[in-house]
Amino acid sequence: MDLDDIDTVGVVGAGTMGSGIAQVAAVNGYRVVMRDVEARFVDSGFETIEESLARFVSRGDLDQSGADAARARIEGTTDIDALSPATLVVEAVTEDLGVKQSVFSDLAAACGPETVLATNTSTLSITSIASAIDRPERVVGLHFMNPVPVMAGVEVVVGEQTNGATVELAHDFAAALGKETWEADDRPGFVVNRVLMPWINEGVRAYDEGVAEKGDIDRGLRLGTNVPMGPLELADHIGLDVVLDASETLHAELGDRYKPAYLLKRKVEAGDLGKKTGAGFYEYD
Ligand code: NAD
Repeated sequence: MDLDDIDTVGVVGAGTMGSGIAQVAAVNGYRVVMRDVEARFVDSGFETIEESLARFVSRGDLDQSGADAARARIEGTTDIDALSPATLVVEAVTEDLGVKQSVFSDLAAACGPETVLATNTSTLSITSIASAIDRPERVVGLHFMNPVPVMAGVEVVVGEQTNGATVELAHDFAAALGKETWEADDRPGFVVNRVLMPWINEGVRAYDEGVAEKGDIDRGLRLGTNVPMGPLELADHIGLDVVLDASETLHAELGDRYKPAYLLKRKVEAGDLGKKTGAGFYEYD
């Protein structure tokens, strides 16, 4: 299988990442089948896509007919069997090993034996996810960044059994979506989250221990290291629950240097998850 064999792309999960992946694939000419467990999640994925396409049109980065054509290329469904025409599927469901393994086992039954099955997991092992099915050589990590339509890079993660052709196809597919790639071994957090999560947690600890005002922590990192967002504002953007889940996985695998910050846990328990709930370390309209 090579890039020319990909015509229909399956996306499982229509949340923040799945809707973004579906959008970018459709804008780049692929037919997309986007599946979630309930129609309301599929509808919400379409709302996100339509809002994002409208922003691209209003900025002059896409014309209206291109946006309409992209939207028309995406089919929404709750039926796993609707993914059967896909030659490449990207899974972007909840970050939970059991849930992902069950999705992969359904995909292996629904899709042809040649179909490449990619996971967008942030921190879970590609090899563990692949162990749920009888063709682990076709499983690869395609770790898109949030927001998918805007971010330039995709991390390609190679599992223990991923074969060379699958890795090559993952790079080629990401390039066909206009993304640059880098490759990581299947170790906890791969490259980006292994480095990013302790950085965010250290920012939270610095705030909690009164080292500086939260705004100054973010300004300090922005001005001092030339990143577009400091650790607290980036945590709010990603979602504090997502940051906590990723930190806990890394902590369990790699030990105490990855321990989640005390205040991060308390914020998640209080339901202050960042931008998506209107409050995290900052308040949002
Ligand atoms: P999300 O909660 O926004 O969306 C997950 C979606 O998956 C939900 O709509 C849910 O209904 C759906 N879902 C759950 N079980 C399903 C199933 N069996 N079949 C189909 N759909 C199912 O989560 P998200 O932020 O989009 O994250 C998805 C994945 O992407 C996770 O693995 C996460 O770690 C990873 N990721 C997230 C980010 C981020 O910044 N949010 C960045 C990179 C990677």
